[in-house]
Amino acid sequence: MASLSCSLGNWRPVVRHVDDAGPQEVAITIDDAPTVEATPGLLDLLRRFQMKATFFVSGFRAEKSLELVEAIARDGHAVYAHGWDHIRLDRAPKGRLIQDMSRCEALLAQCRPTPSPYLVRLPYNGGYRNSAVHRQLQSWMPGCQIAHWRLSTEDHAIASAQATTADIEQAAEAAVRRVLDHPGLPGAVILMHDQPVNDLPEGGVKAQASLAVMRHLVEGLAAKGMASVCLRPLAAPSFLSRFVFA
Ligand SMILES: [Zn+2]
Repeated sequence: MASLSCSLGNWRPVVRHVDDAGPQEVAITIDDAPTVEATPGLLDLLRRFQMKATFFVSGFRAEKSLELVEAIARDGHAVYAHGWDHIRLDRAPKGRLIQDMSRCEALLAQCRPTPSPYLVRLPYNGGYRNSAVHRQLQSWMPGCQIAHWRLSTEDHAIASAQATTADIEQAAEAAVRRVLDHPGLPGAVILMHDQPVNDLPEGGVKAQASLAVMRHLVEGLAAKGMASVCLRPLAAPSFLSRFVFA
């Protein structure tokens, strides 16, 4: 629902669809990247199916594996910041949001030029409707936009400590089927994760879940004659949109 509020003309666009999408296009977006257990396999699947994705990178992970960010950029995928630590930046002390995003982007800038306009995805999507968050993002990176999604794979719920390989495979297939059968699929921004940041250990079932979701997703899209493209910022948001949250 649209709402007027104290944004002082600083509402940033919230992107849920591919701007000017062809009927066969979607944008796969991958949060919490990169990890050594999942990222190379995700890149391999995208390469095999000739699809492009948009990676939202957590600085604390990228710092340990910058060569993976370089590999993502080299393959022609889009790379943007998901903050440094994976925390609710809208609830963090003043200044932390910009500090986290700046620190992450400074690292990413070693691997590819800083894109403009910029897209951010907030950890836990925290504060995407918060005018103070929008104002801070605008002051940090004028023209930046918030990457939301239309369809989520809910992949963070697939792996569990008790899950077997067969459980993971079945749950991943069902999760992707739900996304592929959704009438809003054409043009959709689709959310999935590298390995989601949570209490489960890295590798094992968690990496299996990410790779199974990606495999079903690219196979399913290809079977429909569809493809994933890099998420593009919205072209020329209207002047009025800065005053209205939509
Ligand atoms: Zn995240």
